[in-house]
Amino acid sequence: MVKRIQKSDLGHSLRNLMEHDPAFRPLAYFSMEVGLKESIPTYSGGLGVLAGDILKSAADLGVPMAGVTLLYRKGYFVQEFNDEGWQKEKPVQWNPAHELTLLPNRISLTLQGREIQVGVWVYELIGATGYPLPIYFLDTDFEPNHPDDRKLCWYLYGGDNNYRLCQEFVLGVGGLRMLRDLGYMNIETFHLNEGHAGFLTLELMREQGYYDSDKIREQVVFTTHTPVPAGHDYFEFGLIDHVFPPDALATIKRMMPDVPGVSMTELGLRYSRYVNGVAKKHAEVSNDMFKMETVDWVTNGVHPTTWVSSGMLKIYNKHIPGWDQDPGRLVQALTIPKKEIWAAHLAAKLRLFARVLETTGKQLDPEVLTLGFARRAATYKRAELLFSNIKRFTEVAGGRKVQFIFAGKAHPSDNGGKAVLQKIKKTAKELEDNISIVFIDNYNMEIASLLTQGVDVWLNTPMRPREASGTSGMKCTMNGIMNFSVLDGWWIEGWIEDVTGWSIGPEPSAADYESHYDESLDAIDLYDKLQKKIIPTYYENQDKWLSMMQHTIALNASFFNTHRVVREYSSKAYFIDFRGM
Ligand SMILES: *Cc1c(COP(=O)(O)O)cnc(C)c1O
Repeated sequence: MVKRIQKSDLGHSLRNLMEHDPAFRPLAYFSMEVGLKESIPTYSGGLGVLAGDILKSAADLGVPMAGVTLLYRKGYFVQEFNDEGWQKEKPVQWNPAHELTLLPNRISLTLQGREIQVGVWVYELIGATGYPLPIYFLDTDFEPNHPDDRKLCWYLYGGDNNYRLCQEFVLGVGGLRMLRDLGYMNIETFHLNEGHAGFLTLELMREQGYYDSDKIREQVVFTTHTPVPAGHDYFEFGLIDHVFPPDALATIKRMMPDVPGVSMTELGLRYSRYVNGVAKKHAEVSNDMFKMETVDWVTNGVHPTTWVSSGMLKIYNKHIPGWDQDPGRLVQALTIPKKEIWAAHLAAKLRLFARVLETTGKQLDPEVLTLGFARRAATYKRAELLFSNIKRFTEVAGGRKVQFIFAGKAHPSDNGGKAVLQKIKKTAKELEDNISIVFIDNYNMEIASLLTQGVDVWLNTPMRPREASGTSGMKCTMNGIMNFSVLDGWWIEGWIEDVTGWSIGPEPSAADYESHYDESLDAIDLYDKLQKKIIPTYYENQDKWLSMMQHTIALNASFFNTHRVVREYSSKAYFIDFRGM
């Protein structure tokens, strides 16, 4: 039984409790990547940014949580392009000491037959009411570690499966050992944000003397993020035999007795008391894929004050006091005067265009309808769907009726993704006399923020049902920006046609799981809706446009935020009561 914290325990405030016992943290949140801000480049995309947003909301709400992740001294990468439009990666230069504090704590573990010292850096998030939430970044780049082991925490998603296995061992086993060393003895719930940290269950087993699997399960909550089977980490026992120390090897074999290798998702599913996907549809797909019925969903969100523009922040503060601690109050957005919304939006649009001019030399026209598309350049995201019929595309958008801003990084080893980026760059050049299409290099949280505050419409065209949730579109809703998207992930829940935005392609069906559907239908619908609905509304019916912006805030931003996510996890998964501070 997981102990419920009684309200009376929280009689004063959690801050008092913290002062009384600084290590009072019944919750630990483990994530392979955490995205807090662009100057801490330890994230690659949505998973890390979501982790950062959840931790920020937990701090704002006074939820007694600690975060655990790895420090990546070389970050993800800086994106550049050669003359042919092919992506080149450069290592990120950053100095962790400028952002984080190195603590004296050291723990040790053994990997590949060598003992490794693991150290830790801390970043203290301060919530809106002053509540501190620590995030621990594990690091192995210390004397006297073997040179290869010092590199274990250099690259996020770099290296081979062996490197990855070592990193996940450091995160899971090292992370828990480090928490104990830091004095966290009373953690009741470990939340695994994706399977990467699943090896912490080995350490839990070791701590309690290997006797009771149920006891492990009681302490673990697992969120799965990938509806694509190939997206789940898998390590064959051949590799694990070589990397793990003997005790951990024996433990994992006992815990996963009937399989040829360890799927981190499978490990998470077997040893958690609560499992969730990140949108309703994603939970359905996951139940189908794992042949389960118990995968719940907590639809993702974004952290309100991280993603709202300064202009929108001002008008929300003026008309909806307290919205930042209780974003559900944004349901009142229909009462915000439309002209104030438009003025705030225009300011954000001009700020974005100033950055476009600075970085690309291209001057965009603020009067022109502007669509944004930015996300990891994975092929399933289909960034190039827009260009699948150039004749039709120029018919719809030509004559500078619509302009486009793209951004996104392809994983260094994803040549398919790189080819997509190259095609966008090439098409932009070919069409430049008729349609303005710009690409902002080096997509990161800062560029994401400019884009999701400053475009008029956010485009998303993933292949169904591969988008577990998606969060960039939610950042837009925080700024009253409508989504124009394939019905997948969160958008199935947020979409009301002509009210919060527009769908692309057919409504999802069971057949989407099994086979490829006809992708050309999506492209046809994209062009038709842009031409017949979005362009006429933008240019000829500003009143309706602004009404849609109000509805986007009221119906989408009020729900798709991490304050609601953290409250949902607290009541459904953590069984913890906290005092909203
Ligand atoms: C929000 C964000 C993402 C996630 O976007 P999706 O639409 O969920 O793919 C990726 N990268 C960065 C830098 C972000 O800020």
